[in-house]
Amino acid sequence: MIGRLRGSNSVERFAVIGEHFYQPPRKGSHTRVKKIHTDPHGMDWNNIIIHECYIPQTQNGTLDHVSFDFYTTIRREMLALAPKEVKQLRESMKARGVGDPFLHVLLPDLNKRDKEILVKAGYLAFEEETKVSPKWFWAPETALDNETLETLVKIGYKGVLCAPEQIDIIGTSADNKPIILKLPNKANIIALPFDRPFSSSLAFSEKSNADAYTRSTIIPRIQKLPQSQPLIGWTDGETFGHHVKLADLFLDFLVKESLPNVGIAVLGLNDIQDVWEKKDYQTGKLRERTAWSCPHGNLVRWHGACPCDGGHHGSWKENFSTAISSFNQEIDKILDRELGRRWADDLAQNFSQYFYFTGSRNSKKSLMAVKASALAAMTSCGTFFESPETSGNINMLFIHQALENLKDAGFEQLSQEMKQKMLLTLSKGIDPFTKQNLAQLFSKILS
Ligand SMILES: [Zn+2]
Repeated sequence: MIGRLRGSNSVERFAVIGEHFYQPPRKGSHTRVKKIHTDPHGMDWNNIIIHECYIPQTQNGTLDHVSFDFYTTIRREMLALAPKEVKQLRESMKARGVGDPFLHVLLPDLNKRDKEILVKAGYLAFEEETKVSPKWFWAPETALDNETLETLVKIGYKGVLCAPEQIDIIGTSADNKPIILKLPNKANIIALPFDRPFSSSLAFSEKSNADAYTRSTIIPRIQKLPQSQPLIGWTDGETFGHHVKLADLFLDFLVKESLPNVGIAVLGLNDIQDVWEKKDYQTGKLRERTAWSCPHGNLVRWHGACPCDGGHHGSWKENFSTAISSFNQEIDKILDRELGRRWADDLAQNFSQYFYFTGSRNSKKSLMAVKASALAAMTSCGTFFESPETSGNINMLFIHQALENLKDAGFEQLSQEMKQKMLLTLSKGIDPFTKQNLAQLFSKILS
């Protein structure tokens, strides 16, 4: 028997439990690349995770109790496998959904125009599928800078989630507090840092008994907060059912039974402003180029050696990320020259049309597909892990797709030259595990 929270006869406390659902697109759409496998062992991870995790959580109705962001590309893949569940998922998104960009790219690594393209494309996909506008935003890896925040305000977001270590406020830590950030362009946005201990425990602690977890972890933490401040926990959605088998049932019981039974209502993030009182808001400053999964600053985990991988094996990441980033910027010059500067609006408005383009000799569509593929090549997955083999093929697949579209657009020679340049930069990075240079490692997927 769990004691109710002291002094609570009905619901008196609030928690928000958030899930970040994301898997990268692992297949290309162009007819000449769509058969390429990015997994070294031929595993179809997206299919596996959809069945282990996304379908059960949707069918159980868990998603009507938590809050969540769910990437557009994985929604599209799930649509082909489980159309009924995607319909249900979209219904849950109306009340409980949080927005995200169309692709999982570290937004501070993009220029302003690219930021706007991805944020707007994700926003429009959310609206198109739910007929509702998202209010809150989950940035890939919660990586933020002020230019990203200004972009979010411009597109229509009211607030952004982040880790407490990303925010400077006077006095105490920022966990669970709504922080008003005044931006360089004089606009404001609310940053909402999740609760660090609760979020870490959601990810890593034992998930067998939801009542015991409530008693040992949630109640002590929530009792330290003012009543008007909900406890915010956020973690990867794949934790529940994929990383930890049966944890989807743990989460379902937690949000539907264990928490309500002790007087804690699981609030949707979209309703949280109804609970905060004026005194809860504080002003603060963003620590630029920080993220939830690397506390070492300047997004170093994705660009070089970092204590986040125990062996500091990440020196290859500098060459890898520089090669892709330079490629993406080169593509901009080609589009500006060939299409004028209006192409960015068109791409943001019709992103999926170009991202899923199957290829043909249509010079404009092919050029737009080049840019959509170059942005997909910027996904953060490739440099998250310590080995370039874990996910690097995904980034390289989209470089390959961009190069194929560039050929279709009539730039065969330029496509060859850009590939050689890419290989040259990659050849200066060494895989710490196989000792191959990255050009050797990725030559197969690039040709
Ligand atoms: Zn780090």
